[in-house]
Amino acid sequence: MQYRTLLRGLLGAALGLQLAFTAPSQAQNTEVNIYSARQEALIKPLLDRFTAETGIDVNLVTGDGDALLTRLRNEGRNSPADLLLTTDAGRLYRAQEAGVLQPLGAPELDALVPAHLRSSEDYWIGLSLRARVIVYAPDRVDPEELSTYQALAEPQWKGRVCIRSSSNIYNQSLVASFLANHGEEETMAWLEGLVGNFARPPQGGDRDQIKAVAVGQCDVAVVNSYYLGGMLRSSEPEERAAADAVALFWPNQAEGESGTHINISGAGLTRAAKNPDAARALIRFLLTAESQQWYAETNNEYPVREGIPVSAVLSAWGEFRGDTLDVTELGQRNADAVMAMDRAGWK
Ligand code: FE
Repeated sequence: MQYRTLLRGLLGAALGLQLAFTAPSQAQNTEVNIYSARQEALIKPLLDRFTAETGIDVNLVTGDGDALLTRLRNEGRNSPADLLLTTDAGRLYRAQEAGVLQPLGAPELDALVPAHLRSSEDYWIGLSLRARVIVYAPDRVDPEELSTYQALAEPQWKGRVCIRSSSNIYNQSLVASFLANHGEEETMAWLEGLVGNFARPPQGGDRDQIKAVAVGQCDVAVVNSYYLGGMLRSSEPEERAAADAVALFWPNQAEGESGTHINISGAGLTRAAKNPDAARALIRFLLTAESQQWYAETNNEYPVREGIPVSAVLSAWGEFRGDTLDVTELGQRNADAVMAMDRAGWK
């Protein structure tokens, strides 16, 4: 009996050794393949540093966030991608729902990223934080008149508000946060008032809303703060001039208010990942204090980790209180948000 147990143990050990030797790619993880919705220039230097430090090669495919998700879905198990890097919790949640991600399985990272900035089911994790703010024309708007997103639905803003289309995920996530924080009835009333105050039918991206405020097509706009940061640091004089002509306001700061709507850019481990250990090592690297500072600064965003210094441009805007709503809810409520915007006539 004892002899048979010993023999089985020896056989098992030998078999284990053999398996370890016949599956070198799984044991070594010498490369990691990324599908990234972030432009190459905004991430590549960090990836190069990762390779220099670890010897792990990084292959980067960049593209539109929605297109990359479609590609992952079509490739299924055969996808070469190990990591999906994309913006907006709504999109990360969509990838999770599409079944192309798997739980990250790196609980040591949970201590670095606040719980509300990562998937409640461990499917993705925030790498940077963005805020959706109000920009205004200081020559036509007294900041004393500004307070909340809700207030932009009031009659004094009739014909003065610019914001991009409802097909955009940033607006969908903003409305999803409203549904979570205020319920359907209040959200519908807000949406109807807001849409009634639009200065023009929604068009263009967030930069275009800032430019529209600068040239007087509207007096206030709702945009992600990094667009303003990017324009302030732009090499194009017209972009800098437009950014200089507007000011930033942090909405919903008063006590009892939700805080400014925030979202993340983040990463998820693909279900098809052939190099999961290397992928986890890369996420760990992107969450070091040094990477966090570089990544946030280069993208004009905020670090997800606390206590990391922000760039001079961002410091000039002062501190703000962000909504602590779990960003997973932005994904969970996306369909309801799209429906509510549609009902309110937000094109
Ligand atoms: Fe963006």
